[in-house]
Amino acid sequence: MTAGRNWDRSRDQARLARQGSEPAAGMLFPPSAPPKIRPSKASLRAEAEAAFAAARTVLKRLACSCGHSATIRLTPAQAERGRFRCKCGRPIP
Ligand SMILES: [Zn+2]
Repeated sequence: MTAGRNWDRSRDQARLARQGSEPAAGMLFPPSAPPKIRPSKASLRAEAEAAFAAARTVLKRLACSCGHSATIRLTPAQAERGRFRCKCGRPIP
């Protein structure tokens, strides 16, 4: 009847080789990744505020006459009004 190659069949075979199988009935496209959920503005704001607060922390080195010493992380307000006590009980100036 027809001479030469059956291009439809040849194309189908090439597609099957490339994609693995024919899509199931009613499935037009292969399943894709789930949609990315956009973070809310409130959560982005909270994140930015936390990063800002973290950047504003102050490191304070405390040393007691007993020999204990520590580096603590404080907010500027805490660092200003902070009164610290060693675990031995003595106040640290
Ligand atoms: Zn001490």
